Amino acid sequence: MMEEKGLVIVYTGEGKGKTTAALGLVLRAVGYKKKCLIIQFGKAWFSGELAAIKKLSPFVKIIQGGKGFLGILGSRVSLKEHKIAASQTFDLLYKQVTSGKWDIIVADEIVGAVSSKTLSFTKLLQLIKNKPVTMDLVLTGHHVPKKLIALADLVTEMQEIKHPFKKGILAKKGIDF
Ligand code: ATP
Ligand code: MG
Repeated sequence: MMEEKGLVIVYTGEGKGKTTAALGLVLRAVGYKKKCLIIQFGKAWFSGELAAIKKLSPFVKIIQGGKGFLGILGSRVSLKEHKIAASQTFDLLYKQVTSGKWDIIVADEIVGAVSSKTLSFTKLLQLIKNKPVTMDLVLTGHHVPKKLIALADLVTEMQEIKHPFKKGILAKKGIDF
């Protein structure tokens, strides 16, 4: 049987759950021994998935690129530095996408990198065009551009109805990171 066509999946929106949804999708795919790669844009700190994914080796691999979130409180990292980091992370992502080694690749926070102009839309477009036909590509992050919605097969917007942050409950270990 011919292999199925891979999808371009986008998780966006202001509510919590974009990265978590992408990780859940990967977990399900590992059940079928699919090879999954997660590349995180703009992240440079520890999060539980880094340790968890080691336990799913060799089916899943995770790589962090970046200098923390753009504009995060107290950050002294300039836009130029963010752009350099995003460009390096993108080059790595592009190489892996076109290598044909992976069934699923998650580019976590890449949508935010594009909407904040840290990474050009043209580069993302090139990535989507050149991905292997059967590979699924999952993209997460805030403010999805209309042009990306047009290209994607599946777009889900996380809508915040309630978040503990609003009543002063800060990020929780194992829930938020
Ligand atoms: P998660 O990684 O928990 O799935 P996310 O990918 O949807 O969240 P990001 O924009 O990547 O959201 O945010 C990263 C961090 O901000 C996470 O610790 C997340 O829990 C937290 N966060 C997400 N949404 C909100 C919100 N609406 N208000 C406050 N904090 C949030
Ligand atoms: Mg996220």
